[in-house]
Amino acid sequence: MIKIVAGKSKFLREIAEEYFKLLNPQNKNGAFHKRNSIYGRIETQFKIKSNRSNYSHYGRHLYNNLKTLITGIPSEIYQIQKQLDGISNLYSLKRNILLKRINKIFYYDTFRESDTAIWLAKEINLGVCVYCNRQYISIIKHKKSHMYLADFDHYFLRSKYPCLSLSFYNLILSCHGCNSKLKFTAKFILKNYLHPYMDSFNDILRFSTNVLNTNFFFNKGDDFEIKLKKNWFKNPTKKDINRAFKTAEIFRIKDLYNLHKDVIIELIQKHIIYSPQYIDNLYSEFSILFSTKADVYRMLLGAYVIDSEINKRPLSKFIKDISEEFGFLKLH
Ligand SMILES: [Zn+2]
Repeated sequence: MIKIVAGKSKFLREIAEEYFKLLNPQNKNGAFHKRNSIYGRIETQFKIKSNRSNYSHYGRHLYNNLKTLITGIPSEIYQIQKQLDGISNLYSLKRNILLKRINKIFYYDTFRESDTAIWLAKEINLGVCVYCNRQYISIIKHKKSHMYLADFDHYFLRSKYPCLSLSFYNLILSCHGCNSKLKFTAKFILKNYLHPYMDSFNDILRFSTNVLNTNFFFNKGDDFEIKLKKNWFKNPTKKDINRAFKTAEIFRIKDLYNLHKDVIIELIQKHIIYSPQYIDNLYSEFSILFSTKADVYRMLLGAYVIDSEINKRPLSKFIKDISEEFGFLKLH
């Protein structure tokens, strides 16, 4: 899982604010649009101004906390959903009635294909799935509209936390496999699992092999194992290491990356062929092609090797970690 730190050209906070405005268009007189805004739909569904029923308590709390519910960080939005659940229990509200109203307010099923969703996906501008770093996240023109070859995963499950279905920090652009096949109905909470907007898997765990000597292993087939181990460079806490391993288990990271042993064999070949001297020579001789030494490695490895760039191309973290372990990639 690779941490998302900013969008295409804006800070995450700014994208969240703009997203909130798009979800809540206003009329010329400044009032929220009755049908097209979430505020308007809460009023319609819960009649919060005229109605004093038990359900209106729920609606008022939703209305008053909507801004945080949409733009707040994961711990804040989780808290609001818990408060709403508390109101529901206190007044013995019927879940099926609530769900019906909530679905009409948030309209997630139509949201996914909406211009706002496309705008959001483009602003976040992820190259690769944050969960696996194996699949591209792509948005392409399709007839008059757009099509995105990706999913929006709900970090907090939509079935359990229905009011978080449009929350900015709950919508995680990911590949279909990670969302629908692997995470699926796993109940993620912050205490147990990493959150891609809050935590960096890259800082906590590293890929590792038991290939200690690349010369020795050359041409010996793929009789080695790919594992995950603590990232010693960053000294993560025990708690985060546990959360990272649990998260990796859900997304079957170890199993999936053991399918990419051919990549490691190529790294062994490259390590033997390209000496440090050769790499230095490439850098100095073709300075017009490479602005940094990392660019040289990127060409040789076919992967991004700077931490902040590893979500631009599949397998970048894997290739970077193992190349560093072999002593092939040396940027410092
Ligand atoms: Zn994925």
